[in-house]
Amino acid sequence: NGLLEVRGLTVRVEDKEILHGIDLEIQKGETHVLMGPNGAGKSTLGYALMGNPRYEATAGNVLFQGKRINEESADKRARDGMFLSFQNPLEIPGLTLGAFIRGAVEQRRGERVKLSAFRKEMGQAMELLQMDRAYGDRDLNVGFSGGEKKKAEILQMLLLKPSLAILDETDSGLDVDAVRTVSLGVKEYQKDREGGLLIITHSTRILESLHVDKTHIMVGGRIVKTGGAALVEEINRDGFERYLGQ
Ligand code: ADP
Ligand code: MG
Ligand code: MG
Repeated sequence: NGLLEVRGLTVRVEDKEILHGIDLEIQKGETHVLMGPNGAGKSTLGYALMGNPRYEATAGNVLFQGKRINEESADKRARDGMFLSFQNPLEIPGLTLGAFIRGAVEQRRGERVKLSAFRKEMGQAMELLQMDRAYGDRDLNVGFSGGEKKKAEILQMLLLKPSLAILDETDSGLDVDAVRTVSLGVKEYQKDREGGLLIITHSTRILESLHVDKTHIMVGGRIVKTGGAALVEEINRDGFERYLGQ
């Protein structure tokens, strides 16, 4: 009874096949790590799972909470509990961070969320993420530093409580302190044992204090190796070299 079951997924972008038959199964409450060199197709998998229309599934199946979702829009997938944090979050002038997240939470829950209750909940999550509460009233990502944008993504995740969160290089370009803070946020999400997590990364720093159930290595649009948490250590030590050219 998997949260996410991907079977033989082939994905094409424009005219090029990028993913060549991906199998991946994530159970409720599990944390999976997806690693691989640049250009391997990691982000492509994230976009395809989230239903970005530019990424066309040409073969295979994606089952989310037991239901085939190949033809479903990104909006529907989000409402059903899938969340993708972007590598480069968009700046949206005229929409505050707080209003944006509250709107998304209302979409997700299918009901109005009282402003006072929401502000309280958001304030607590912001405290955990060491974000100044004033950011709630600032335009979404406008003038945010790289670290602040990533924290804003984690803030969304904590408030949305998705059933599957996909984090695409949320740790890249962050200083040591920001990685630690983002990692604290991820740990908080892990506490709720219902939610699954797919962490895409090519560094291992964010994983140092996180529980990891499975690690997948992607090279050239294929998962070439799956192992446990120890595989992260191996990659940390030896890099991807031995998996290239497979
Ligand atoms: P990773 O996230 O592992 O670094 P990507 O998924 O970003 O890898 O890219 C995998 C391959 O797909 C690369 O060769 C990249 O050039 C290509 N690709 C990704 N997105 C697009 C796109 N929108 N248009 C054209 N090619 C793309
Ligand atoms: Mg990349
Ligand atoms: Mg990428």
